Amino acid sequence: MPRDESRERDLSPRTLMVHAGAARSQHGEMSEALYLTQGFAYDSAEAAAARFNGADDGFVYARYGNPTVRMFEERIAALEGAEDAFATASGMAAVNAAMTSQLKAGDHIVAARALFGSCLYIVETLLPRFGVAVNLVDGLDLDQWRRAMRPETVAVFLESPSNPTLEIIDIAAVSEIAHGVGARVVVDNVFATPVFQRPLALGADVVIYSATKHIDGQGRCLGGVVLGTRRFIRDVLEPYMKHTGGAMSPFNAWVMLKGLETLDIRARAQALSAAEIADTLADHPLVRRVIYPGRADHPQFEMASRQLQTGGTMIALDLGDQETAFRFMNALRIVLISNNLGDAKTIITHPRTTTHQRLNEEQRLALGIGPGLLRLSIGLESADDLIADLTNALAESQAR
Ligand SMILES: *Cc1c(COP(=O)(O)O)cnc(C)c1O
Repeated sequence: MPRDESRERDLSPRTLMVHAGAARSQHGEMSEALYLTQGFAYDSAEAAAARFNGADDGFVYARYGNPTVRMFEERIAALEGAEDAFATASGMAAVNAAMTSQLKAGDHIVAARALFGSCLYIVETLLPRFGVAVNLVDGLDLDQWRRAMRPETVAVFLESPSNPTLEIIDIAAVSEIAHGVGARVVVDNVFATPVFQRPLALGADVVIYSATKHIDGQGRCLGGVVLGTRRFIRDVLEPYMKHTGGAMSPFNAWVMLKGLETLDIRARAQALSAAEIADTLADHPLVRRVIYPGRADHPQFEMASRQLQTGGTMIALDLGDQETAFRFMNALRIVLISNNLGDAKTIITHPRTTTHQRLNEEQRLALGIGPGLLRLSIGLESADDLIADLTNALAESQAR
């Protein structure tokens, strides 16, 4: 069932988020149906055979596809401007499938060093076990990208803004370099969200999301999605996904589908609050440094304003040392201590002792993850209440 892309082209993402991909049953339900089913019954033996030999492209088994999951895939593909999408059980299932499905022993990949911990495990530990050569580079240094390319480079992987220090990698420039050797560019767009950054329009080939983050947006379900050309999704990714079992559950797809309806309005509200909070924190005498892509003092501010349009919903701040950072976190009353992000609830994380705890000190310092570094994911609470909570906790963070 190919999408009618000609109709979608005239609509803004905000409209597509509400309507794209909806496939109503004979009942004409208003809200998308939750098809909580593993399998499908066929009218006849011949009908079953036709489903399996591809003469009829209807559903066969939920590991291959499900009507609710398909609605989610079509909706996010429409708003991302991708030809097709495949939903996965989690963001990591999406990263793993997007990389592994296109690689074999003897291939080479290049990745930016500043990656989400589990993404780093896949590129640095897992893929080399299967004979894939890997180069990690400083994503901000285009010369390092250039020098790392080889004739056998099959794919390039990056995250921008990066976690947790919010570096902005020039996706268009890296894509041009990678395409020079025929490599595919895979972008983990989680921090940017589909609202603020369009990697495909910048030249990337494949986009992945952890739908667990802003797409759900209320901390309920795990999910992920891989987006790209129809050829990549159907010929490269789908066989791998079908037979390795990382499919998204219909229930989670239904939650994500409803999450997409409000994603635009949520992400914009969260980014507006984040900008205000970043400015307040930057002016505070107890804060050593604020990293926010929407502020003119961000090292890649120019590119961030072009590529990301806003500063996004995430802020990093440095309080100098771990004791102060912990006292600050423990004094917060509204902001919750957790490791998720993109939630309606504002979350604070100390990366050094949680999300990036697995790295050694040298790796952490190379990524700018010092003992006083904190990551804030701004939620949907009133910005005034959040600012009051953060400034009170800063005052309380001072050693007595
Ligand atoms: C959370 C996250 C992932 C992994 O997603 P899960 O849904 O937790 O598996 C991948 N990349 C980035 C940047 C993330 O923040």
